[in-house]
Amino acid sequence: MNKYLIIGASIAAASAIEAIRKNDKEGSITVIGKEPYAPYCRPLISYALLGKTTFEKMPYRDASFYKKMKAKLILGKEATSIDKAKKQVILDDGTRLPYDKLLVSTGSRPFVPPMEGLDKVEKKFSFMTIDDAKSLEKELDPEAKVLVVGAGLIGLKCCEGILAKVKSIDVVDLAPRILPSILDDKAAARVQDYLEGKGIRFFLKDSVASFTKKTATLKSGTKLTFDLLVLAVGVRPNTALVADIGGTVNRGIVTDDCCKTSIEDIYAAGDCTTSHDITSDSDKILALFPNANMQGEVAGNQMSGGTLRYDHAIAANAIGFFGLHIITAGSYIGDQLDLSTKDGYKVLFTKDDHLVGMILIGDTVLRAGIYTNLIRKQIPLSSLDFEQIAQQPRLMAFAKKDRVSMLGEKR
Ligand SMILES: Cc1cc2nc3c(=O)[nH]c(=O)nc-3n(C[C@H](O)[C@H](O)[C@H](O)COP(=O)(O)OP(=O)(O)OC[C@H]3O[C@@H](n4cnc5c(N)ncnc54)[C@H](O)[C@@H]3O)c2cc1C
Repeated sequence: MNKYLIIGASIAAASAIEAIRKNDKEGSITVIGKEPYAPYCRPLISYALLGKTTFEKMPYRDASFYKKMKAKLILGKEATSIDKAKKQVILDDGTRLPYDKLLVSTGSRPFVPPMEGLDKVEKKFSFMTIDDAKSLEKELDPEAKVLVVGAGLIGLKCCEGILAKVKSIDVVDLAPRILPSILDDKAAARVQDYLEGKGIRFFLKDSVASFTKKTATLKSGTKLTFDLLVLAVGVRPNTALVADIGGTVNRGIVTDDCCKTSIEDIYAAGDCTTSHDITSDSDKILALFPNANMQGEVAGNQMSGGTLRYDHAIAANAIGFFGLHIITAGSYIGDQLDLSTKDGYKVLFTKDDHLVGMILIGDTVLRAGIYTNLIRKQIPLSSLDFEQIAQQPRLMAFAKKDRVSMLGEKR
């Protein structure tokens, strides 16, 4: 009987469990999680603060899933090292757990660069876990002024979660635009406008030079006072367990398209890994929910003898801020086709007869899955009526064989 062990109890782990069980009904599955919670939908932590959901409603799978899958969750424990010779994982309490196949899905952690005076700030928070959100929630106050350092996805989701419960929010970022990893300049300006309309102030192309207890002095000389500080500067993949035993790491853990690391019988999936982005033909960390889900599935399938491949990775993001929907995918290279209107932003990027990227904001997000599929499946644009699809994404504009392969349409 195979022993499957998974380190990190989150999205990739849940997908891996499901995939393992499809192939192997008998093997034991054990998952070790540092957080005291079963896998939950991390992006929802802002909605719990907003009151649109509760922490109790956030599990990614309900308790019966783990029972049905005969998967044992060991929560609130950290894996501190891997003994690859003995094929055991060592936990923080000294327990040794054996494995035949091991999955590392340890995600990422907040990155906090050295900032002068940061130690003087008493009320400072990260925003990545349920516990982070609960700590922040305790301090929310209608009179509180909040400073968020980082105008990326996590910083702005935090703003959405707390804006109605605090007096004001200022956001500082070194980048010249907000959401720098998912938007280009024009799109970012549009979203920034929208968020400023909600009352958030932005200080871009600037950074904190120093802190006192309740004041940040920016490099530009601007002084911002605050009661609560949220640090959302960036994240770093948790690679140490694999790096410490000689596994290949290139920013993230390097895996092949079977999600295998360079070490025998050790696999990796999710935010801790580097993926091969097919739209830019380059290796990147794609720290996004759909990738963690897909990689987890491939890893679990491969660990249990399957043949699935993770060979179609792209950056793809569906996110909303204060009711404004944004869907992005792929790379922003090649020719740009701007189909924006007053109510919606829509730019498609094409290169060498392929759609390689898109940014959709507002009303244009409808049926965006068709574009995402075009990008992911690398369907030649000359094989379909792209002019029509660019204007209005409709399945009927595809050749029959593509409709079948893309969306499993019945023959
Ligand atoms: C506020 C917020 C908003 C987001 N919004 C979006 C969004 O809109 N769209 C999107 O695509 N993605 C979004 N993401 C990213 C998304 O949540 C991640 O891509 C996804 O959760 C990654 O899943 P994962 O399985 O790789 O691991 P993670 O969810 O990162 O979890 C890894 C787990 O491993 C545990 N762990 C780490 N080391 C150890 C160890 N040594 N021993 C035991 N356990 C360990 C950690 O404690 C953690 O629980 C958001 C993230 C945040 C924080």
